[in-house]
Amino acid sequence: MKYVSTRGERKVDFVEAMSQGLAEGGGLYQPVDFPDLSYLLNNTYSDFAAFAVDFLTPFLAGSVLVDEVESLTKAALNFPLKTTQLTEQLQVLELFHGPTLSFKDFGARFLAQCLSRLNQSQCILVATSGDTGSAVASSFSGLSNLTAVVLFPKGKITARQKAQITCWHKNILAVEVEGFFDDCQALVKAAFADVDFKQQVHLSTANSINIARILPQMSYYAYCASQYYTTHQAPLNFVVPSGNLGNVTACFYAKQLGFPIGNITIACNANRAVVDYLQTGDYHSKATIRTLANAMDVGAPSNFERLQSLWLQYPDLQTQVSCGSVSDADIQQAIIDGYQRYDYLMCPHTAVGYHLAQQTPTEHTCLVSTAHPAKFETVIEPLIKQSLLVPDALQALLVKPQNFTSISSELTVLKPLIIAHCKG
Ligand SMILES: *Cc1c(COP(=O)(O)O)cnc(C)c1O
Repeated sequence: MKYVSTRGERKVDFVEAMSQGLAEGGGLYQPVDFPDLSYLLNNTYSDFAAFAVDFLTPFLAGSVLVDEVESLTKAALNFPLKTTQLTEQLQVLELFHGPTLSFKDFGARFLAQCLSRLNQSQCILVATSGDTGSAVASSFSGLSNLTAVVLFPKGKITARQKAQITCWHKNILAVEVEGFFDDCQALVKAAFADVDFKQQVHLSTANSINIARILPQMSYYAYCASQYYTTHQAPLNFVVPSGNLGNVTACFYAKQLGFPIGNITIACNANRAVVDYLQTGDYHSKATIRTLANAMDVGAPSNFERLQSLWLQYPDLQTQVSCGSVSDADIQQAIIDGYQRYDYLMCPHTAVGYHLAQQTPTEHTCLVSTAHPAKFETVIEPLIKQSLLVPDALQALLVKPQNFTSISSELTVLKPLIIAHCKG
């Protein structure tokens, strides 16, 4: 399998696409073609990881990692994938049973395992709106040859999210940035644009601009839809809470690969750049709006470029994609509704999808649950008027000492920190 940039022609293998993170010219890598992998539906698998090995093999073919697909996939995806049936029509795909309790664990752990098998030093620079940082820090903590720098926006993430970013091995540097997630992301892009600097510290990124994060995410949509098809003989519609659009891009890719996926809904909070685009045909990134679903507070979603290059013509994109924008008030109402109706607690991000799924109930719908509710107790507890149980894995992290550095959002301030950390 080869990969090509959304803004270029040169084809590279998986390892090069992953190591570069962002392609030359600022483009994003995507598979050159989408082979039909639906024959995997004919096989039976003992669990998700076993499926993922077969699913991911073609994507690593032609790279030095191809013989390691099985061992690295099993090492990375070593936690459960669960579904909960809420109603006959609606199931929830719970992607939050990994070490840091969000779907980011799938991509971050896969990327970390891939990079660690290359035996070369690499510095991972990542911007986080909350959950990416903890997943990356946890996945890279203590791995030899690898260092990570995690940028998070000051005061815009919860205390529990912050604890999960700042408690790791010394190969992880946590940096609190004055500004929003988009400022952190702009710093990452600026660092990458500085080619000399990028080479000097062997910089790559673990944001969803990295194709290695998208691949394992494709595999859970393919697996879930295949399982559903086997029992119901119907394609499954997905509702995906979205911010930077990485997770939903993986869902569209899985559909392109021939898996039985029906309608895909991009569920947005008040940050509605994509929603407005689909209504008007004009795309403008926007200033970030803070919401209760903070991991989706993205005004300029990076992966929009990948979606656009799937359907080059706007009308095609418009017919393929559904979306909706949900207010904070509706997020709160959705959390209460899910709890009262089904005794089911959702994080605020999942609640965005739940609201849209309730608005237009459709048969064969799967709501993607992106994080464990206990990560967002400050939102949920006042609504349900009780305290949430803290899972043991989270509790163990919350009591560890925290280390981080604070900076203004300037590349000239960040660069020396990165050099000291990655070369130190
Ligand atoms: C990152 C994140 C999202 C948004 O995912 P994208 O791939 O950026 O669209 C949604 N929910 C949670 C809990 C997240 O951490």
